[in-house]
Amino acid sequence: MLKFLHDAHTHTAYSDGTGSIADSVAAAEARGLALLGITDHSHHFEPGTLGRYIREVRYWGEDAELTILAGVEGNITAGGVDVPGFMAEKLDYVIASVHEWLERPEEYVELVKLALEDDNVDIIGHFGASFPYIGFPSADELEEILDLAEARGKAFEISSRYRVPDIDFIRECIRRGIKLTFASDAHSPGEVGGVSWSERIFEKAGGAREDLLFGEFL
Ligand SMILES: [Zn+2]
Ligand SMILES: [Zn+2]
Repeated sequence: MLKFLHDAHTHTAYSDGTGSIADSVAAAEARGLALLGITDHSHHFEPGTLGRYIREVRYWGEDAELTILAGVEGNITAGGVDVPGFMAEKLDYVIASVHEWLERPEEYVELVKLALEDDNVDIIGHFGASFPYIGFPSADELEEILDLAEARGKAFEISSRYRVPDIDFIRECIRRGIKLTFASDAHSPGEVGGVSWSERIFEKAGGAREDLLFGEFL
């Protein structure tokens, strides 16, 4: 039996996903989710389309059986996160993720630190998805990330798509009061709510409702 069933990271045809917002909401209802976050990629939006996107999320959220939130997934680059303040203030939350190919884990850690310092960012997306390919950061580097996240009140998602972060990192988040979310990173309505890995590892790490960023809705 799945507990705290929510999916805080999904894409639609507003960026590189397939299916409409209505399709994703219907899929979330069919799967019995308590909360769905629609989080299309930031670089697909212009000011006009962002307004339309948010209106559409609000429209389908109004009579839905679950809480529907409007977010985006921004890109962390050497110049910072590509979600400006005017965008963030219209949204319920902002995920920031590393998407560029890097050579070394130190580079990845430096980028994530930029996002943790950014007032517009709420959640770090799929933290460590490229570590198996580029190498793992040192314990000290991970400690720095956790210290900064704790100090700045940032959350991490538990990504079922990439199966990150690892359980030790999640345990440490829980111990420090760093909030967590479940994330399918769905790119089609059929993938919405695919968070069983997130749920399993969260429970295994000893997580409870109060450890979830959106616990109040679940
Ligand atoms: Zn991503
Ligand atoms: Zn994504």
